[in-house]
Amino acid sequence: MSKHTEITVRSLVALCLAAVMAVSVLPVPAGAATSGEIQKEIDALEEKNKAIQAQIDAVRSQYDANYSDMADIVSKKEAIDEEIALLTDKIETTNAQITAYGQLIADTQDELDDAEEELRTLSEQHRERIRAMEEGGSITYWQVIFEANSFTDLLDRVNMMQEISEADQRRLQEMRIASDIVTATRMSLESEKTELEGTWEELTAAEAELEEKRTESDDMLRELEKKSEEYQRLMDESEALQDELMQEIAAKEKDLKQAKYDEYLAKLALQGENPPSNASWTTPVSGYTITSPFGMRTHPILGTKRMHNGIDMACSQGTPIYATRAGTVTVASYQAGGAGYYVSINHLDGFASIYMHMTNYVVSAGQSVSQGQLIGYVGSTGLSTGPHLHFGISYAGTYVNPLAYIY
Ligand SMILES: [Zn+2]
Repeated sequence: MSKHTEITVRSLVALCLAAVMAVSVLPVPAGAATSGEIQKEIDALEEKNKAIQAQIDAVRSQYDANYSDMADIVSKKEAIDEEIALLTDKIETTNAQITAYGQLIADTQDELDDAEEELRTLSEQHRERIRAMEEGGSITYWQVIFEANSFTDLLDRVNMMQEISEADQRRLQEMRIASDIVTATRMSLESEKTELEGTWEELTAAEAELEEKRTESDDMLRELEKKSEEYQRLMDESEALQDELMQEIAAKEKDLKQAKYDEYLAKLALQGENPPSNASWTTPVSGYTITSPFGMRTHPILGTKRMHNGIDMACSQGTPIYATRAGTVTVASYQAGGAGYYVSINHLDGFASIYMHMTNYVVSAGQSVSQGQLIGYVGSTGLSTGPHLHFGISYAGTYVNPLAYIY
């Protein structure tokens, strides 16, 4: 057991300074936001998420309204299509009727032509016969008489001539009546055909009107489809944004949990308890004797009760000092009348370690070190009475008992 008991007034001041410095050089865990700060960030993100959700809801209701407009137009269009189909049928039927009437009229015209031809022929024949009889005049009349064998025969011959004339007249009359009937039929057919043509024109106009309406519906539908696509795009964008936010919130909540745990550990440290650590720690020197433990002690120099922020590990001059855990060197410096040559390492999980009174160090600030890496040698620089390593561990800026981590 060795004691460090050299006393000077100057060193007392230095010791106080050293205590202040040792605390001031303690590392702050990297990126350490407090749980309160993280909670505020989460709250802000949640607000943003609410705003996006409101936006999505608004766009969705527009989308739905647009969709029902589209459904209306589609059903109207279907009605129009049905009407057009009906009209098309009617138009086809009318067309067929018109064609049939045209055929009937043509047939009637033929009949009429035949009848007129026959009438003309009959009329001509009759006229020929009459003319022949008249031209022959008395000769014919006398011939008829002289050629008669008897009076009875003569009467018969005169009667026959009259009968021929009467038959011709009757035949002509019949033919005229028949011709008149055909003419009347033809006119009636013509008028029915004209009526049908009128109907056809009306139907065709109605169809054209419906076609126009259908085209208008198609245009409106296209517009609404464009709108629908735009709404869909807006919703997709917002939802992508929302996904990102959700991921951010999830990450922050993980940070929050970690921060709360760290704060809990820091509170433990402040209460003088040792926060748990899952890391494996190794002793920085071998062949040591603890000459002064962690905690309140009667100061060997001042004789008053005060805190000792680490353990003093006495060992021979020049003993190699190794990093107790991997980390980043935050300080490698010299402090006269205090820590002497000393090194501080941040282990990046809230814990840091400090090594004092070296003869010299072999690392520099900012350097990464691995566990067990040589960082310096045991000496007695600064406020020290003999070769020893003052080894300290802190959590979130509060010194804790190193013996809780190294065995
Ligand atoms: Zn000490």
